[in-house]
Amino acid sequence: MLKWGENMFEGDVEVQKEIRHFVENVIKPRASQVDKDEEVPDELMAEIKESGYLGATISKEYGGLGYTNNALYVLHEEAGKGCSSFRSLLTVHGMVSVAIERWGNEVQKNKYLPLLAKGDMIACFALSEPQAGSDISQIQTSAVAYDNYYVINGNKKWITFGQIADLFLVFALCDGKPSALLIDRDTEGFQISPIKGFLGARGSMIAELKFENCKVEKCQIIGMEGIGLSHIAMHSLDYGRFSVACSCVGLSQACLDASLEYTKERKCSGKELRKHQLIQKKITQMAVNTEAARLLCQKAAWLKDKKDPNSIMATWYAKYFSAKTAVMVASEAVQIHGANGCINSNPVERYYRDAKINEIIEGSNEIHEKLISVNSYMGN
Ligand SMILES: Cc1cc2nc3c(=O)[nH]c(=O)nc-3n(C[C@H](O)[C@H](O)[C@H](O)COP(=O)(O)OP(=O)(O)OC[C@H]3O[C@@H](n4cnc5c(N)ncnc54)[C@H](O)[C@@H]3O)c2cc1C
Repeated sequence: MLKWGENMFEGDVEVQKEIRHFVENVIKPRASQVDKDEEVPDELMAEIKESGYLGATISKEYGGLGYTNNALYVLHEEAGKGCSSFRSLLTVHGMVSVAIERWGNEVQKNKYLPLLAKGDMIACFALSEPQAGSDISQIQTSAVAYDNYYVINGNKKWITFGQIADLFLVFALCDGKPSALLIDRDTEGFQISPIKGFLGARGSMIAELKFENCKVEKCQIIGMEGIGLSHIAMHSLDYGRFSVACSCVGLSQACLDASLEYTKERKCSGKELRKHQLIQKKITQMAVNTEAARLLCQKAAWLKDKKDPNSIMATWYAKYFSAKTAVMVASEAVQIHGANGCINSNPVERYYRDAKINEIIEGSNEIHEKLISVNSYMGN
């Protein structure tokens, strides 16, 4: 059997080459504009759709790429190097896709997965509310059951790609039981308002959703009433954390690469920056932490591919460490670039803003500190 650390990328080398080419040529050149305009333009969205990467998590039988977790790792690392808003699209679209494929019935899978795989439908994940972020048990949105439909009332906030999504995975309480419902954009009683002015991942087209007596057919529930948070949200969030963790490795690598280049050119006190010991120390810390984050993500991918339950905890480790690493490495990249790193014509300025978001989304640092410590005591 393949041991972790041996031939990690066997079979994924081609995937890596293709994704790197796509990110270098299509995503990266537009990342700064996406950040400034706070949106992904239609023509870029069309190219993303054409690439097939929106179907990366979806099985080939439904028209997706059926990537292994190892290949998903590669996809997200490369995406993270290019543009955090592109990464956030992969994250939320993937979170809904994995929920449908794991917990949906055959009708739901056949109806949605082929469209999601081709990007003919964009999906978003609507869990957070104005009063419920880290503590998802506090959601208030209600779904009251009638004969063959539910009536939804409540608000969802900070919904990535909510501005343009066609399908919303919405979490609500059915008679107090947490449940997950698939809601199409054109459903009546449902308003979408853009939220602008984000610190980072600014092209994520985030929205607030208001449900006012929104009627949704009962067949749109995934699984059954009561398992919305424990099974469906948890499954999606595990994927979301993995996606964010892997992209933080890419973001850190991009910061390191930019810093290596800059320190070869820039001279201070009569010599190149790279010859100053304090700068060498920074580069060492950036390089070693990036590599450590990479190994944690690759281990999580490896465990996921083996369907090992330890993959959940390995994903927490990876997400926690990679997000913190991205913030540290991006901060040092700005420091190394001096004033040149503080202006938006230089990508490290964007990387710094983008990095911080990763310590809040998909379980903040503090939530991971709680989760990891509590689980570390189990069995001891
Ligand atoms: C860019 C962006 C995109 C997002 N996209 C989505 C999306 O697509 N879908 C969605 O549903 N949500 C989305 N969110 C919301 C995100 O999931 C929440 O921001 C996150 O869960 C944290 O919740 P909060 O912001 O309400 O912070 P709070 O829960 O209010 O926490 C505030 C601070 O207190 C800390 N804290 C909270 N509880 C504890 C505790 N028990 N012990 C110690 N410290 C604690 C937190 O770590 C944080 O530092 C997005 C957020 C951002 C910033």
